Amino acid sequence: MDIVQQIRDKGLKATPARQLVYAELTRSHMAYSHAELEALFLDIDRVTLYRILKDFEDAGLVHKVFDTQGSTRFAICHHTCPGKHHAENHVHFNCNDCGRMFCLQAVQTPEINIPGGFRVAGMHTLIYGSCEKCNQLTDKNEPTDKIQEVIV
Ligand SMILES: [Zn+2]
Ligand SMILES: [Zn+2]
Ligand SMILES: [Zn+2]
Repeated sequence: MDIVQQIRDKGLKATPARQLVYAELTRSHMAYSHAELEALFLDIDRVTLYRILKDFEDAGLVHKVFDTQGSTRFAICHHTCPGKHHAENHVHFNCNDCGRMFCLQAVQTPEINIPGGFRVAGMHTLIYGSCEKCNQLTDKNEPTDKIQEVIV
């Protein structure tokens, strides 16, 4: 299904800016911060970008997560989310070294026993450490400027 259709299916107008942001999120396995998206889409002004992400989230196209700094991140929903109430049950990994956050759709949130009387509506599992790329670089003892290249 093409991007225009996917956006329209959620009842949104497929504006050029929405298509750009959605295409990038679809292509990537990352959970992007506002700052990262702003850097990627210099032509889209901040307010528009915020609105796009909010509309996508409400429509069930992207899900919102928080990184280790408490900042909001956005990643694509790879399954059918009904809308405001997202059905995600996978974990997210925040790299302490490069700061990137990965949406690990294939890694399910582990089963957790909640005391009786509590009812779970959702769960965010944030794992942090160092990502594959950063580990490879440290293992090889690459100079710092090489590490910077990979991050950008
Ligand atoms: Zn979702
Ligand atoms: Zn990393
Ligand atoms: Zn995710």
